[in-house]
Amino acid sequence: MAANRKLLILPGDGIGPEVMVQVRRIVDWFDKHRAVGFDILEQPVGGAAYDLHGTPLTDEALSEAMEADAVLLGAVGGPQYDNVPRDKRPEAGLLRLRKEMDLFANLRPALVFDALVDASTLKREVVEGLDILILRELTAGVYFGEPRGIETLADGTRRAIDTQIYTESEIRRVAEVGFELARKRGNRLHSVEKANVMESGVFWREVVSTLHADDFSDVELHHMYADNCAMQLVRWPKQFDVIVTDNLFGDILSDCAAMLTGSLGMLPSASLGAEDETGRRRAMYEPVHGSAPDIAGKDMANPLATILSFAMMLRYSFGLADDAELVERAVQNALAAGCRTSDILGPGMQPVSTNQMGDAILGELDRLAT
Ligand code: NAD
Repeated sequence: MAANRKLLILPGDGIGPEVMVQVRRIVDWFDKHRAVGFDILEQPVGGAAYDLHGTPLTDEALSEAMEADAVLLGAVGGPQYDNVPRDKRPEAGLLRLRKEMDLFANLRPALVFDALVDASTLKREVVEGLDILILRELTAGVYFGEPRGIETLADGTRRAIDTQIYTESEIRRVAEVGFELARKRGNRLHSVEKANVMESGVFWREVVSTLHADDFSDVELHHMYADNCAMQLVRWPKQFDVIVTDNLFGDILSDCAAMLTGSLGMLPSASLGAEDETGRRRAMYEPVHGSAPDIAGKDMANPLATILSFAMMLRYSFGLADDAELVERAVQNALAAGCRTSDILGPGMQPVSTNQMGDAILGELDRLAT
């Protein structure tokens, strides 16, 4: 029997702990019914850690994250932390975690479930059956490049500087992940930059093309300018399979792609680090949404984004594609049966609570596994 996987759970703030309770129930279900088992550790993070320990990320939580096979995060933040010093804010804990774990590849699928086609603001034929993946470089580029700052010039006028920097290895490693993901999906990769106006874009295109010719010529590669990609995403998103792009463009394009599905409570994500000598990657899985303070504590948050993040963990950290599909099918079936939290409610439907959505998913898992 395979050893248990070490999973660190960081529920965080607001609705984070509420949605994580539902994931814990699914983890228990897997422990009982499937070959994979989990050893679970749990730590506070964000505001919850600040309240308890005066820091949004303790050294203990960080070291457990570094040792874990995978980390599952709820959400962090809340208005009560608005006046806390910047380095103690909930988000600072999350940024430190991403940085220390060197999670350079951020995966955001945009998957439209049949039952939710009408939640999108786009026409049914544009989004029906949509299944694309945006891969954003997460640890380099203009959000980190130096020099940066606002300065006063000799003549008394001021200017602001940000610097876009990408090394060859930073581009190569994220592009490699892109090609590998494309191979496991529709075998098509769009590499997105602004080679028409940016040196870093010219270089990005060159590095991706060389990697393609050397190691991935079996994958269909297209280069696209970021502005065109934004247009194509809302014009005809089904032309894409995997999109790989830098930190800044990825930030914008992944939000754009996310909204094709019409619903924040449904969107999972994964952030992956480099492979070590044993083939293991550090990884953190989390819903795209935040801590939703407006609905926290009301048992009405949609837990599906976090449950689908758990499914991504099964697929990308543990290579358990069948188990991941099982969870995704359970979600699909529960939605098709009309089980909806209030954020994804259709006309004439009654909303279910967070806990009732968890019940529905467990019921579907039982049905699918027998
Ligand atoms: P948010 O995603 O928390 O909420 C936006 C809106 O979507 C709210 O109306 C909320 O009720 C709704 N919503 C979000 N998730 C939902 C779910 N699962 N089910 C039902 N409805 C849901 O974004 P915000 O309001 O801009 O930010 C709130 C806090 O979260 C802030 O402190 C922000 O910094 C933080 N935040 C954290 C993360 C993270 O932890 N990764 C991401 C984004 C925002």
